[in-house]
Amino acid sequence: MTGCGVCGRPLATETAGCRNPLCASASRWFHWNVAVAERSGLLESALNAYKYEGDRSRARVFGTMLAGYLVERLSNGHTTAELGEDALD
Ligand SMILES: [Zn+2]
Repeated sequence: MTGCGVCGRPLATETAGCRNPLCASASRWFHWNVAVAERSGLLESALNAYKYEGDRSRARVFGTMLAGYLVERLSNGHTTAELGEDALD
């Protein structure tokens, strides 16, 4: 099964479009996106506080989650180019 080239979600068929309308948007300001975890519940509250209220108390937790995701992907044979080299800067 292939995934969306922008968000990585599985596609119903190889020719199907992604269900996320942002992926097809001409005004999208990023090339790709990865969901490290499902944004819901306590995680969603903490992320919203981080992004919109300046609460940096969980910055180390979020950084650890991202680093763990990148290490897992790299150890499973993905390249830094596939992950987006900017993410590793
Ligand atoms: Zn997508």
